[in-house]
This record gives sequence, structure tokens and C-alpha cells, in this order.
Amino acid sequence: MAECTDLSISPSDPPLAAIALGSNLGEPLRQLRSAVQMLAQTAGIDVLAYSPWYCTIPVGPPQPNYWNGCLIARVQLSPWALLKTLQRIEVHFGRQRQEHWGARTLDLDLLLYGDRVITTAELTLPHPRLAERPFVLVPLAAIAPHWRHPLLGETIQTLRERVGDAGIIAVLSDDAGETTFATAADRLLPERH
Ligand code: ADP
Ligand code: MG
Repeated sequence: MAECTDLSISPSDPPLAAIALGSNLGEPLRQLRSAVQMLAQTAGIDVLAYSPWYCTIPVGPPQPNYWNGCLIARVQLSPWALLKTLQRIEVHFGRQRQEHWGARTLDLDLLLYGDRVITTAELTLPHPRLAERPFVLVPLAAIAPHWRHPLLGETIQTLRERVGDAGIIAVLSDDAGETTFATAADRLLPERH
């Protein structure tokens, strides 16, 4: 994992991206940790921080509980190239697209890319369900509470407080030091008022 030691670099160029990770088939925690490592080893992706892992009750058809988390990366890929990279990693972990919102070995969603707003079927930014999902907002608020949603104008922390933590049943931190590091990453985010 790259260490975020250079606090002098510009916050918006290259931009920061927020990515949600989820899994409820196979060995979820192993797959999630491997996905973080694969992203960190991808050219053009510099992972700055990742959240603890949260065990959550599934939304959608009956299926096993999920493990969810989020990461923040500085990216030198376009939003579309980043989405393709996420989809390649999903396939690497055996992701098969079957039932809508059905069980999956790995789900990687692009939540935010700087303050970009994109509205196509292939890619919607910010992620259309970001503001209503505790299983996304709780981990994201752990590493990027001050990031402002570019359409709603509210911080992730405000959105997270609004949705509460319904459906979150456990939390597991890989490394207590990670939270301190994550908070440092949040300070790199552009201030928007
Ligand atoms: P979900 O994550 O909602 O359960 P999928 O992972 O199967 O659903 O994604 C369905 C489609 O959503 C993908 O084909 C992808 O092109 C599209 N999509 C649109 N915006 C985004 C985004 N911000 N992040 C990830 N996928 C997105
Ligand atoms: Mg997805």
C-alpha cells in the first residue's frame, strides 16, 4: 500500500476517486482485501486510504450478509477507464452478472470522482444511490467525511448522519493505524463551500 506522505500535492489534479467494495459470496473478506491490493498495484491508481470492513444485511433478494467498505484513491485514469478497471477486477474474482442486486463475489462501484457529474447508463456520477445507502455512507464517512456531494452540496458526514446505520451489524478494522492514515487522506480533499 502506497503511503500518503506528500501532503503538498494538489488536491484536485490528479483527482480523487471514492470506490465502494462489497462481497457476499466465496470468501468476502479475502476477496475485498485482494481487490484493494490489486487496485493499489494498478498503474494510475494510488490508494490513499481504505475504511474498516462492515458486515451488512443485504438489500434486494434473499442472500447472505455482505461485507462492505470504501477506499479513496488518487487517479490518473478517466472515470470511464477507472470503471473498466473496476469491472475487470470484478470479473477476475468471478463476478457474474445475473440477478439485479443479487449475490456477488465482488462489487466495485465508482461513488465519486472529484466533483464530476456524469449521467449516462454506462456511468453515473455521483453514484445514483450513494446518498441513501448506510452500507456505503458509513464506510465512506470513516475516511472522507468532508467530501461534498457535488449535486446535493452536503458532506458525506451529513448524509451519513441522515441515513443512520440501519442494517450494519458488525465492523472489523484491518489495522487500527489505518484510521489515522485515512483521516490524513480526507484532509487532502478539496475544500468546497
Ligand atoms: P449494482 O452495483 O447496482 O448492483 P452492477 O454492479 O451490476 O449493479 O452494475 C450495473 C451497471 O451499472 C454496470 O453495467 C455499470 O456500467 C453501471 N454503472 C453506472 N454508473 C456506475 C457507477 N458509478 N459505478 C459502477 N457502475 C455503474
Ligand atoms: Mg456495481
